[in-house]
Amino acid sequence: MMGRMRVTVLSSGSGGNATLVSAGGARVLVDAGVGASTIEARMQSALGEVVPLDAMIITHPHGDHACKASELAKRFECPVWMTEATQRRLPLPHARKRVFGFNTPFDIAGLRVEPMPVPHDAPNVALVFEHRGARAGMVTDLGHVPNKLAAHFEGCQLVLLEANHDPEMLAGGPYPDFLKKRVASRTGHLSNQQAAHLCARLGRETREIVLMHLSETNNTPMLALAQVRAAIGERRVKVRCAHQDAVLDLEVRASAQARTRSKGSQLALPFG
Ligand SMILES: [Zn+2]
Ligand SMILES: [Zn+2]
Repeated sequence: MMGRMRVTVLSSGSGGNATLVSAGGARVLVDAGVGASTIEARMQSALGEVVPLDAMIITHPHGDHACKASELAKRFECPVWMTEATQRRLPLPHARKRVFGFNTPFDIAGLRVEPMPVPHDAPNVALVFEHRGARAGMVTDLGHVPNKLAAHFEGCQLVLLEANHDPEMLAGGPYPDFLKKRVASRTGHLSNQQAAHLCARLGRETREIVLMHLSETNNTPMLALAQVRAAIGERRVKVRCAHQDAVLDLEVRASAQARTRSKGSQLALPFG
């Protein structure tokens, strides 16, 4: 059976982040920046029900990704996966904790998770989810694109990535200078241009791109979409923006000739 995955962005932006990844019976919440009542209401609107979780993954310890981790772990009675560096800054004394390495793939209820470290002013990871050839790559909160990121996202039919700000809007906007510097730095957030540059390097398998974590002050969906669409040119890739206050529900299907990576080599998966 060809793999299918459902990726439901419940909330995206500096006001709080949470995305549900569902495949083959596994349900994993990535980040916990919004509370249980919001998660439940948005699950209800996207899926028609509030679903149980097998686990949560916290990408990094910033509040907009982690502030409700304790509340959600209790509400959904699920373990919380973090890197050791994140766990040190986010003790969560009452939660069941699981540690993953920055570069070590792991499995949650049959769902494969492949992390990769990314540059930010807190220890952060990009994640690829894989289920029977269906692959989705996800990354927000990075100051620049590491060289290996495009290769890490190889074979992903869906890529969700940060397009945080337009550099001119940021420079001319209301943020204080220290914050402008922080956002624009090599360990801050990704600009539309940086996101577009990565999009242009993504492989042919990528059919859909979702722009995440847009600043409400220093960006507009129109600017972000225009940059990315210009960069990918004629290729048939659907590009959309995720939102702070609205759900975005996406389906990922394994390509007809799904590929899976194994220590640098390419293994073709059989059809069917
Ligand atoms: Zn963030
Ligand atoms: Zn952050």
